[in-house]
Amino acid sequence: MKDSDATVSQLNLLKQKLHSAKTALDEINEDRNTKLQTLLQFIGHLSLACKGQNLELDNKLAKLRHKLNTFERVDEALPELVDVERLLKGQYNHVMVQLEESRAGLSRVIRQIQRVESAPDRLKKEISYFKQGLSKPFHTVWEYIPKVEQLIGFYELILQQEFTDEHRLEVQPKHRQLAHELAQMVSEIEFRKDQRDQVLVIKELLASELELDALLDAYQTILSLLLDNIARDKTASQEFLYALNDAIGAVREVVTDSHNQVQRSEQLKSQLNREINANVDRADDAIAEVDDITRLKQQLTEELNALKLSLARKEALEQREQALQRKSIETMRKELDALGNEAKSYKERLFEQQKLNLLDNLTQLPNRAALEERMEQEFRNHKRHKNPLWVAVADIDHFKSINDSFGHSTGDKTLQVIAMALKNSFRDTEFVARYGGEEFVLLLPDVANKDIAALLNRVREKIKNIPFKFKNQRITVTVSIGAAQVSGNEHIQETFERADAALYKAKNESRDRVIIDQ
Ligand code: GH3
Ligand code: MG
Ligand code: MG
Repeated sequence: MKDSDATVSQLNLLKQKLHSAKTALDEINEDRNTKLQTLLQFIGHLSLACKGQNLELDNKLAKLRHKLNTFERVDEALPELVDVERLLKGQYNHVMVQLEESRAGLSRVIRQIQRVESAPDRLKKEISYFKQGLSKPFHTVWEYIPKVEQLIGFYELILQQEFTDEHRLEVQPKHRQLAHELAQMVSEIEFRKDQRDQVLVIKELLASELELDALLDAYQTILSLLLDNIARDKTASQEFLYALNDAIGAVREVVTDSHNQVQRSEQLKSQLNREINANVDRADDAIAEVDDITRLKQQLTEELNALKLSLARKEALEQREQALQRKSIETMRKELDALGNEAKSYKERLFEQQKLNLLDNLTQLPNRAALEERMEQEFRNHKRHKNPLWVAVADIDHFKSINDSFGHSTGDKTLQVIAMALKNSFRDTEFVARYGGEEFVLLLPDVANKDIAALLNRVREKIKNIPFKFKNQRITVTVSIGAAQVSGNEHIQETFERADAALYKAKNESRDRVIIDQ
């Protein structure tokens, strides 16, 4: 009995142990399942994170995620897991190779950038640090992206620099010379009133700190202003030609009309003449043949009446003809008057234009073209009358320093004042022209040898005594003058060259002086 009791209690104990072991196992299982579930979820998320690197891998991962969703089919997912694992390994190796290649690529690019000489020093240093950073391998793509961004930044800076450098092309002395020549040319051309503001801006621009872009723009603007002027001149001549053409057309019409009228009148008149002649013939016949005086009287009266009628018609015809002719002449006269007026205003316009073309815009003195014309004229006079004729060249001393110290527009005003002083120093028969820049040419006929030096020195002194005041500073402006007399068989052009050489001498001998080439 005791034995059976013991067996029972042992059995119970075992049962109890078994129960608690089962409970523990259940708990362990549950715990394991929870962990597995978490793990599966994690794998699911991880697989999503891997998406987009390789299409095959993406497909396998999608399948895997689907299977892992249902916990019961975890076992079925095992073959997929093996596949994915293989693919993942392959992908990892691939990514590593790619990262290494990318690093090598970056190093190559950076070596190229380092060759750009014009990069600023600070940038060169940054690039060098960057290159050092590239010596260590990349572990992830994420390390690569900021490097690429940094590299793009370097490129941007270098391009910006190159771009601005290119735009700020170096201004060389020949460019300054071009700007100077353009400024001079512009001051010798007469622009229309509505163009002057634009021209003024260009002049200021050419006189200020020069940039090549600005010089090109200035050339372009001046060219288009000139083209516009040429187009307008052309239009004026065209308008005149059209008017001329219209007038000729109208006159031709009138002439043709009156010619036709005359022909018609001629026909009518010869018809009337024939009728009159027939009347007279019939009257003659009647006188010769008719004996009966009463019949003769009657017949003659009839013929005379017919004759009167014909004559009256002829007279009316002639009157109409005269009236028509008067009208034609009147029409033609009107046309010719209109044409005359048109021609007159065209001529005036041409004359104005010609006058403007011969005047220097800044000083209003005759320009170089006018000087050449006048030189020929004076030379012809000299040849004919053998009177003395002098050519003098005056050049302002150190004029450049006035521009440099007080600005171009002060320089312009100085030129105007000196031009006026020169003009007022000579008689009407003497001629002063602005030859260009700060140089003037004088043509002086009828001055005796003994008087020329005194005359020119008076002018030199007069200019020296002009009380210029720039920026509250009293400035003395002087000129040097060279002169020569037309002599022997030389052409006036040669005289000019001798005068110019004398000026050159005056410049070399301390300036502010007159030298006469003897
Ligand atoms: P030098 O005594 O040897 O004649 O010296 P300079 O400075 O007068 O002569 P240079 O030929 O070296 O310079 C002439 C200057 O005249 C340079 C130019 O800018 C200036 N110039 C020429 N035309 C004009 C103009 O229309 N207006 C202004 N403001 N300056 C002009
Ligand atoms: Mg000078
Ligand atoms: Mg000069």
